[in-house]
Amino acid sequence: MKIRVADLHPGPLWKNFDVLTRIPRPTRHEEQIRAHLLNIGGGLGLETLGDEAGNVIIRKPATDNRQGTTPVILQGHQDMVPQANAGTTHDFAKDPIRTVVDGEWVRAEGTTLGADNGIGVAAIIGILESRNIPHGPLEALFTSNEESGMDGAFGLEVGVLRGRILINTDSEEEGELCIGCSGGINATSRFPCTWEKAGGDWAAYRLSVTGLRGGHSGVDIHRGRGNAISLLFRILGQAGREYGLRITELDAGNMRNAIPREAFATVSVPADIARAFQSSIDALAGAFHGELEGIEPSICISAERIADVPDQWIDTGTQDRCIDAVCACPTGVVGMSETIPGLVETSTNLSIVRIRSDCIEVCSLVRSSVDSALEALCDDIALLFSQAGARTEFDGRYPGWQPDPSSVILAQVRSVYLEKFGKSAHIGAIHAGLECGILGDTYPDLDMISLGPTIRDPHSPDERVHITSVSRFWELLTGTLERIQ
Ligand SMILES: [Zn+2]
Repeated sequence: MKIRVADLHPGPLWKNFDVLTRIPRPTRHEEQIRAHLLNIGGGLGLETLGDEAGNVIIRKPATDNRQGTTPVILQGHQDMVPQANAGTTHDFAKDPIRTVVDGEWVRAEGTTLGADNGIGVAAIIGILESRNIPHGPLEALFTSNEESGMDGAFGLEVGVLRGRILINTDSEEEGELCIGCSGGINATSRFPCTWEKAGGDWAAYRLSVTGLRGGHSGVDIHRGRGNAISLLFRILGQAGREYGLRITELDAGNMRNAIPREAFATVSVPADIARAFQSSIDALAGAFHGELEGIEPSICISAERIADVPDQWIDTGTQDRCIDAVCACPTGVVGMSETIPGLVETSTNLSIVRIRSDCIEVCSLVRSSVDSALEALCDDIALLFSQAGARTEFDGRYPGWQPDPSSVILAQVRSVYLEKFGKSAHIGAIHAGLECGILGDTYPDLDMISLGPTIRDPHSPDERVHITSVSRFWELLTGTLERIQ
């Protein structure tokens, strides 16, 4: 007989997850899940409130004789990333997720599963409904729109939460306790430029750097992958000096939080030295292959001659200053953490370069789990570009969460983990944003930790959650509530 999700153990969690799979909750369309959560709180006779930012908060009093223990916030996000395979017809606004129990895993038929963060939310609901799990005063916090802007975390007002400990359920590796995340900020530098009329005998080329692996600009930044913008600008720098190259178009990278995989430029060189220019590109391509051997097996550098020579290009002054600055601009890992071995503390990702009608725009995403290190790196970038005649603006800042290895909740969760499973949990942090960074900025006295079951390929139709890890997550969570003094 086919096993269904609702039959899995622990029942209180899986039954609620099964219900969640039938409630549409794609990011930015969370009305139905919000109504469901408000109903649950109301139906249980618990103090329930929704705020302007779309968050839902439900308070449950302590169980017998535990009124004096530290109040705890259990937190998860309401939304899920709606992704379907090509050829799968699925309307995330109304269709239920079709779950499949597949060996050790639960996945969905052709779509994201929503285990991120549905398992966490289901666990919290299970605890709110429970009568036999001992715990102190509880506050459930279900945040809105985590996946595309962390709106709920940003919008949560000061003075709403009463808990002192916050357990976030949005981690994706069972056995790993997350105690820190990076903050981030967007840097945008603009070089004002003027256009000059082209004239004379020129040869035009489409330069491309393609075939790189890319990846997430936070969690993959330490892998040493090639940055298509840096490589393109090394070509432009060398060829600019040697061949008097002129630039008409730049189209490099497209997302701030992705390591750029592709970069293109339309350039011209005097026709009589076109051949030498082309062979210099081939030589550089060979050098890049050697440099990135083993890391970027599919890298492709090409200079394709195009028939139409552009009728204008940007002024040489701006061009040279921009090339120098982009070549000198840091990208990749800038510093490693002292407290957590292997964790990137500070990094920056040179992510987009474009020519607009009146300027060249250069974008980076700077991250750090230490605020002062983030600021120092931003200052360096602003200074570098201002020396080259560009103005740098910063926006979209979100705070980090600096690891505190002496955290009390960390010690408690660790000891519960060791007792229940007979081995130590790993302590880690991630080099990307988590809601904890924002919540901790609004509530600086919170003692926080993030944990969860093992989820693979979140945000994609391959998303799946490991069944045994879910029951361990449940045991750890409920065991911790019982342990907190
Ligand atoms: Zn999540």
